[in-house]
Amino acid sequence: MAQRQPLMAGNWKMNLDHIEATGLVQKLAWSLADLRHDPARCETAVLVPFTDLRTVQLLIEGERYPIRWGAQDVSVHQVGAYTGEVSAPMLAKLNCAYVVVGHSERREYHGETDQLVNAKAKQALGHGIQPIICVGEKLAVRQSGDQVAFVLGQVDGVLAGLQPDEAANVILAYEPVWAIGTGQVATPADAQEVCGAIRSRVAELFSAQLAQSLRILYGGSAKASNIVDLMAQPDVDGALVGGASLQAEEFARMVAFQTLA
Ligand code: PEP
Repeated sequence: MAQRQPLMAGNWKMNLDHIEATGLVQKLAWSLADLRHDPARCETAVLVPFTDLRTVQLLIEGERYPIRWGAQDVSVHQVGAYTGEVSAPMLAKLNCAYVVVGHSERREYHGETDQLVNAKAKQALGHGIQPIICVGEKLAVRQSGDQVAFVLGQVDGVLAGLQPDEAANVILAYEPVWAIGTGQVATPADAQEVCGAIRSRVAELFSAQLAQSLRILYGGSAKASNIVDLMAQPDVDGALVGGASLQAEEFARMVAFQTLA
């Protein structure tokens, strides 16, 4: 079976200016060093506001911290009269490894559809940036028991038209909307049910081999106290972490989850 390197990706959302960002990245690097974290065992990434990107890039590259970085959104356009937007080529110039697309907050507050998320993912892939594509059901869907069908519909939409070599560079994040920022984490079994179904659907859409190498993250109130059980699930390859990623020591402990068990 393909070896998938776990990934803990911190989504800072609209928190921390570029000066505060310096402090958090330094503390995170020191905390990882204190824990003697081996980056080969779990990758660390920070997904920061646009205004922090250049500072975070220069700091991490300068200090050679074992941390990667990325943005939280990208335009579907490459260049031109699109006031307020930031393009994939601009993010690529800042050596972004990742960009989040289709986060539930963007779907909710900016009306983003699966079609738009798909176009954003294609932009990122076209410029060498791995999109972390978010999917996940709202509470009403979970309560009706339709979460798997709903999420697989989103997966079909966000991956539509991708070539296998593009799909191989995608990361999918299953983020049940009712668990984001609420403190109400999905049970490990809930996370596994949907992440496993996503992997099976990717196998149908592309190939079993591609599906086995694709990283699928869980997101929604993940923290150091619940990460070990989540990571014990066979189809959970890491986490997209909001609130807990703003606390350096807590986030570092999540990255080093193998030592918590
Ligand atoms: C998120 O923003 O993607 C997220 C999962 O947030 P939290 O960890 O705070 O629930």
